[in-house]
Amino acid sequence: MRNEILVQVERLTRCYSGVRVVDEMSFTLFRGQILGFLGANGAGKSTTLRMLAGVLAPDEGRIVIGGVDLLDQPAQAKRILGYLPEQPPLYHELTVDEQLHYSARLHGLSYRIGRQATMRIKQRCGLTEVGRRLIGHLSKGYRQRVGIAQAVLHDPSVIVLDEPTVGLDPIQSREIRELIRELGRERGVLLSSHLLTEVQTLCTHVQMIRAGRLVYTSALADLERQPSTRLRIALQAPPPLACLNQLPGVVQVDELGEGRFRLHHVAGVTPTALLIEQAGDWGLRELTPEYANLEQIFVELILKAEAD
Ligand code: ATP
Repeated sequence: MRNEILVQVERLTRCYSGVRVVDEMSFTLFRGQILGFLGANGAGKSTTLRMLAGVLAPDEGRIVIGGVDLLDQPAQAKRILGYLPEQPPLYHELTVDEQLHYSARLHGLSYRIGRQATMRIKQRCGLTEVGRRLIGHLSKGYRQRVGIAQAVLHDPSVIVLDEPTVGLDPIQSREIRELIRELGRERGVLLSSHLLTEVQTLCTHVQMIRAGRLVYTSALADLERQPSTRLRIALQAPPPLACLNQLPGVVQVDELGEGRFRLHHVAGVTPTALLIEQAGDWGLRELTPEYANLEQIFVELILKAEAD
């Protein structure tokens, strides 16, 4: 069911030494969504995910997983939850099979069901060929696959992944993203990342965190549909800056050097027609609308705000 709520978080708060590192966060995750958390170092991403995974108790707030209150009924809620922490909990001296059988027991699966689940998940995560290899001898990408496999062995509806591609090379990252995309189709995934492009290409939804607070929430599809409010132009004979500032709808002009400018304008009031009229006099040689992207939003909401 596509519009089934899998996770409901209300006013989640956690303090360390009197400082609110997660501050009244509320959000919802639906089945079929891959929700990416973005934020600078120390913003509170891991703390939030640890509380969602039930390994860290919140000071205030409520977490409901698949209709079950995580704080009141942790064992029941965790049955439908899979968690990959920043450091996957793997034993390097075990083989992949041994690790997965052990994880199956931890998830409460019987011997027989655990064996079947291990076979299935190895296939799903591309681990069938390495079942007998020691985890300590695997590449980081394969270890990360084992980490994800142990997290989803019990077929949870909700998967929480803390920086699942950190430290992987581009090929390994791509493979892990493909795996997450596939797992996310029928489940709900919450993940944290430092990579804007990763969130843009992998996630269906994004949330930005600054100093423990949610400062931006959007569906990626909505972001792509937003009208442009910026035009980048290049002029061979630019007029005085004041002249560009007075163009209809223009609210700000950034001078980029060598005759290049960025015109910020009111949505729906673009100065394009006037620029084209003046094209001959000003030597217009480039005119490109710039669409909002995650990077601009991140710079505005996170980096600039932190610098202030
Ligand atoms: P990063 O991107 O660097 O992993 P993050 O967004 O995941 O950062 P958190 O690890 O959640 O951030 O940390 C949020 C804040 O809480 C930081 O200021 C961190 O120093 C602090 N913090 C986290 N764990 C503890 C702890 N056990 N004791 C004290 N402070 C902590």
